[in-house]
Amino acid sequence: MVDPRGFLKVRERELPPRRPVPLRLMDWREVYEKQDQQQLQRQAGRCMDCGIPFCHSACPLGNLIPEWNDLVSRGDMREAIERLHATNNFPEFTGKLCPAPCESACVLGINQPPVTIKQVEVMIAENAAEAGWITPQVPERLTGKTVAVVGSGPAGLAAAQQLTRSGHTVVVYERDDAIGGLMRYGIPEFKMERAVLDRRLAQMEAEGTRFRAGVDIGADITGEQLRERFDAVVVATGATQWREVELPGRDLVGIHQAMEYLPPTNRVAVGQEPPAEYIDAQGLDVVVIGGGDTGSDCYGTALRQGAKSVTQLDIYPMAPEDRPEHEPWPTMPKVFSVSSSHEEGGQRKFSASTRAFVGEDGRVSGLRLVEVTKVDGVWTPVEGTEHDIPAQLVLLAIGFAGPEHGGLVGQLGLEADARTRFTRTPGYATGTPGVFVAGDAGRGQSLIVWAIAEGRACAAAVDEFLMGDTALPSPIRADAVPLTA
Ligand SMILES: Cc1cc2nc3c(=O)[nH]c(=O)nc-3n(C[C@H](O)[C@H](O)[C@H](O)COP(=O)(O)OP(=O)(O)OC[C@H]3O[C@@H](n4cnc5c(N)ncnc54)[C@H](O)[C@@H]3O)c2cc1C
Ligand code: SF4
Repeated sequence: MVDPRGFLKVRERELPPRRPVPLRLMDWREVYEKQDQQQLQRQAGRCMDCGIPFCHSACPLGNLIPEWNDLVSRGDMREAIERLHATNNFPEFTGKLCPAPCESACVLGINQPPVTIKQVEVMIAENAAEAGWITPQVPERLTGKTVAVVGSGPAGLAAAQQLTRSGHTVVVYERDDAIGGLMRYGIPEFKMERAVLDRRLAQMEAEGTRFRAGVDIGADITGEQLRERFDAVVVATGATQWREVELPGRDLVGIHQAMEYLPPTNRVAVGQEPPAEYIDAQGLDVVVIGGGDTGSDCYGTALRQGAKSVTQLDIYPMAPEDRPEHEPWPTMPKVFSVSSSHEEGGQRKFSASTRAFVGEDGRVSGLRLVEVTKVDGVWTPVEGTEHDIPAQLVLLAIGFAGPEHGGLVGQLGLEADARTRFTRTPGYATGTPGVFVAGDAGRGQSLIVWAIAEGRACAAAVDEFLMGDTALPSPIRADAVPLTA
């Protein structure tokens, strides 16, 4: 049982130090240093075991947060990883990358800084890996049923691990040259090193999951062939169709989508030869359009490449530092946040809208900006605020429209909603028997924690389809929505 007065004894929220900025900018390694065990236990002990843990409901995985906080506070890291794995296949991914809606819903957070839930999670996972406790869980017997998983992001991997452990023979197909989805080449190394992903993939391989990279389903193998060869198919192809901007000068050289920029850079970061399409920010004025996480990943990447200047533009005004009244606890509020990349240099401009790209000799040389404010729900320019800023490299990070609609869609009889996402029942089934959809492909661009939760729940649906019954957990329905105001 957690010490119910722990939060009164330790009032301060303590996180491990981040590596010094000048060092960080010299390599691609992760930003955080390891947390001291005593500090970790102290912090976990701030959890008051409030009785109705809202953090549970805010976490799509339903992580048993008070239970592992208690175990960690008492130094029982072995049992803590067991409790964490009971609800989360990949706690090291969420511990490093999740924006932690659980912390916004922490009861302690009503009038004190919330428990460092995400940090406790990552330390449990890292500790377990170091101690050799993340071992393969090989199924006792095989069912003789086969499942194809298309797409190897967190949704596909979670579904594959659950189904393999249930005794089904699972093959994960990935069109890229390596397994991992956006965690392989999309998310920068400085947020999560690829060795962390590879460690988990090794566990999955040892459990029996088969990986086939470099296979584009819909082209190399058709959807019909897949259905003939497998008893069930899980489509977990993500939502990587990027949004475009229609502005004067868009065709100038030097303007790229974030996902044209990040993957080649991430390849170089892990020691691969620079590919032909490598975009180097060194010595350039870089402007990132888009105030979200993908934009901040471009920002940190450009700083590491040695950009002369980096500016991130956000059309929204600067968010308040404290939770606004219209986003009450326990919802996840939009508050001003400083990512590790923002600490490293550069500047952010808010209420900034791009009117046009300016160019010289066919290359981009700047952006024409204007300050905007919302009038009757429409972004409206503020008179007299138009000005130009220099930019020889512009990165567009304005979000993703939905999943790509390649040959696979017609071949598997998939249907799409108005946002181009593949439609499925709350139980992840499509209109084609035996074909299921999980992760961003059905939800739209979201988060790793949602993808893992969907992968787990989809596996339960597939298991039930194959066996008539299932003992697998189903944390969320496909139509579940985040806890927002
Ligand atoms: C730059 C960036 C940074 C992000 N940072 C974070 C973060 O810090 N925290 C967070 O929680 N979320 C983050 N996200 C969002 C997160 O990565 C996604 O929500 C998550 O990866 C979705 O998982 P998924 O399994 O549904 O799909 P994905 O991870 O997109 O994986 C889908 C895979 O399917 C493959 N595929 C597609 N079509 C085919 C086909 N026909 N045949 C074979 N394979 C196919 C794709 O190549 C891809 O590898 C980020 C996203 C981006 C773009
Ligand atoms: S997965 Fe995310 S929401 Fe769930 S406990 Fe971890 S940090 Fe919190």
